[in-house]
Amino acid sequence: RLILGLESSCDDTAAAVVRIDEHGRGTVMASVVAGQTELHADFGGVVPEIAARAHAEKLDHCVEDALHAAGITLPQIDAIAVTAGPGLIGGVVSGVMCAKGLSAATGKPLYGVNHLAGHALTPRLTDDVPYPYLMLLVSGGHCQFLLVRGPDSFDRLGGTIDDAPGEAFDKVARLLGLPQPGGPSIEKCAQGGDPKRFALPRPLLDRDGCDMSFSGLKTAVLRARDKSMAANGGLTRQDQADLAAGFQAAVVDVLAHKTCRAFAEYPAEGARGLCVAGGVAANKSIRAALETVAAEQEARFVAPPLALCTDNAAMIAFAAGEQAVLRDADDLTLSARPRWPLDTARPSMLGSGK
Ligand code: ATP
Ligand code: FE
Repeated sequence: RLILGLESSCDDTAAAVVRIDEHGRGTVMASVVAGQTELHADFGGVVPEIAARAHAEKLDHCVEDALHAAGITLPQIDAIAVTAGPGLIGGVVSGVMCAKGLSAATGKPLYGVNHLAGHALTPRLTDDVPYPYLMLLVSGGHCQFLLVRGPDSFDRLGGTIDDAPGEAFDKVARLLGLPQPGGPSIEKCAQGGDPKRFALPRPLLDRDGCDMSFSGLKTAVLRARDKSMAANGGLTRQDQADLAAGFQAAVVDVLAHKTCRAFAEYPAEGARGLCVAGGVAANKSIRAALETVAAEQEARFVAPPLALCTDNAAMIAFAAGEQAVLRDADDLTLSARPRWPLDTARPSMLGSGK
């Protein structure tokens, strides 16, 4: 089966073609992602109206490009999958409308997919990971532990109570005068730094459960920076590197400890895999720490390639393929949802917004 996927829930417009074989294994035939960074550059963040308009303009091109790259034409597609939430509603609506149009025109079944389910199921696209497995989703907008029991069955074990780690990386980079996106520039800058020079907090580390917090850490970096600047009349290269290293080490500690806790709290589930997704999973220190935790837990560590860890449409197409075994397709009443917690049912079962 060939599934065409569409994704437009944030600031990337994406289309992809995924082939699902008779064993349910997926192959990415094409995955096209058109970013919008330059459109929002002047505004210091994603502007929802601009994003929605750009998605509406770019979706058709992305679909054409994906079909072309996969070497197929629209009638050869067996199903159409689209992110139906959660996300910026204008963008989600653009994607859902486009998918409905394609479904109506071709008569092919339509599947509304939860964006987070797309991320959470990606390890099964790239590796042979059996259910259940533990998933840490860490990106610019999300941070949560999920126990993935099946294509449509997720338990949220905990997550951030304030900022997502990617957001914290971006904000701290701004504080240190490093370029955006903050993650890669902090990682690079931290290489020459002493992570122990500044004593930075590890919020909620001793607390039970898997909840995390990163906003206090960011404030602590701000204070340490200001103190250092007042003392030296500016921020030296070394201060910058030490603060970057200290911040990164704190994030690594929090994520690693909470991952241990997630395994400890759900031993009966027997999760034998630890998977990561989201842009922050690109960080080498974070990957190394999680790999160590996985080894201690005798779990397999799976980190999909970065292009499939960040927002993309291949994960949406594949998730639909996984879910199609369990459920019927959606119909043209499929609604776009700004909020859609993963541990609730899919939109067609909730009947909301119809
Ligand atoms: P979401 O997909 O959850 O809506 P998003 O689109 O912002 O959010 P991603 O594209 O998955 O998230 O990831 C982008 C984030 O990942 C940015 O905040 C960026 O700073 C962070 N990031 C990228 N590379 C690294 C790295 N090497 N170390 C730490 N963080 C990183
Ligand atoms: Fe995402």
